[in-house]
Amino acid sequence: MKKTICVIGVGYVGLVTGACLADLGNGVICLNRDQEKCDNLKKGILPIYEPGLEELVHRNQAAGRLAFTTSYDEAMQDAEFVFIAVGTPSGTEGEADLAHVNAAATDVARRIHKPIIIINKSTVPIGTGDWVADIVREHMPDPSIPFWVVSNPEFLREGSGVYDSMNPDRIVLGSTNREAAERVAELYYPLQAETIITDLRTAEMIKYASNAFLATKISFINEMANICEALGADVKTVAYGMGTDKRIAPSFLGAGIGWGGSCFPKDVKALAFMAATHGQHPQLLRAVLEINYDQRKRVVTKLRDILGGFRGKTIGILGLAFKPNTDDMRDAPSISIIRLLRNEGAMIKTYDPVAVETAQRILNDVEYCSDPYAVAQDADALILVTEWNEFKQLDMERVRSLMRQPVLIDGRNIYDPARMRALGFIYRGMGRGYNGEGTL
Ligand code: NAD
Repeated sequence: MKKTICVIGVGYVGLVTGACLADLGNGVICLNRDQEKCDNLKKGILPIYEPGLEELVHRNQAAGRLAFTTSYDEAMQDAEFVFIAVGTPSGTEGEADLAHVNAAATDVARRIHKPIIIINKSTVPIGTGDWVADIVREHMPDPSIPFWVVSNPEFLREGSGVYDSMNPDRIVLGSTNREAAERVAELYYPLQAETIITDLRTAEMIKYASNAFLATKISFINEMANICEALGADVKTVAYGMGTDKRIAPSFLGAGIGWGGSCFPKDVKALAFMAATHGQHPQLLRAVLEINYDQRKRVVTKLRDILGGFRGKTIGILGLAFKPNTDDMRDAPSISIIRLLRNEGAMIKTYDPVAVETAQRILNDVEYCSDPYAVAQDADALILVTEWNEFKQLDMERVRSLMRQPVLIDGRNIYDPARMRALGFIYRGMGRGYNGEGTL
């Protein structure tokens, strides 16, 4: 085996990172505080859904390169590298809540018995690397043992986390000690990715700036979509026309309900908070957030305009996860949309290929169906919320025939407006020509 690595946290980032580093030949032990989760992982049962991850975990467990524990003593026993990959959720003011990072850093520090590199993989506010070093210094039993803190922000996308981790666009490493950063770079050497080594704060900022830019791109195209709708243009073609320009690039130009999930909302809020508390006026970031949340209300408004109101109406929601190929429901647009509709008296039926179990912990008063056709049965309208491939291939004629009223709000612009109208749907996309009727 190459190196001995401890990964703290077995969420989307921790588990994917641990499994991938094990697959690169290292000995990895993943620490997590929840005994049941840990027992399940030992049996090969994963707490999250991520394509390809289960197979990767099983393979590396069988090869003896990947283990799980709830004991910091066991996890820290042989570790040369410790990755902190715990959650950094939004606090009440939008700031990043660092309680988990604090707890993990403290628990690690107490067990340091030989030189070690601590790597921050969680998305953390600028300056956290220095703060973690202070925590470690304060709690380590023998302050003469050297340790180094390296920032190594994660850029994986949920839904393709394993692929992204194995094929990164770049590896970003920040540290006060270049040698420590280079030792972490060696872990990633087999991936042959561009590696950017910089200082701690710059590395931390690269992550926030990247997420803020991607969120901005989506909010930008959503604002364009709304203007298209008012002026009779088709945003899908506009985005295509824009995206062919190399300076713009086509990704993150899909107009629709907007972004959600565990990263963009909290990271844009945290960056705006940091900026404001340091005397800046982050007006672009605030607009990006506002445009995004307005899109959720816009979907409901479109439907209200058609149905006249929701009391006594049954609305079918296709898709619950914040995006396809994940079961993550954190800040999913489906939650806001369902709550808005429920508040106005609608009854909700819904289906998602993988996120139902997660959704059931958040949304009750909702009928969970076993397939999309059951959602369509006797529905007064359907809203396509998550663009799962499964929904792109539905028998839409059958869908329409099952519905009480053939109203279709295509929140992700996955259907052809002309075809949907030809099938008899009252179709509304997002930014697709005058009144959302679509021009294509
Ligand atoms: P997650 O909530 O899925 O997982 C966090 C894990 O940390 C959980 O397993 C939790 O039990 C564990 N944990 C919390 N405190 C702990 C402690 N003291 N000791 C041991 N385990 C502890 O979160 P995630 O989505 O994996 O995100 C982790 C970090 O990575 C966040 O900062 C996030 O912003 C960042 N990130 C996430 C993604 C993504 O797509 N999810 C992408 C890039 C970066």
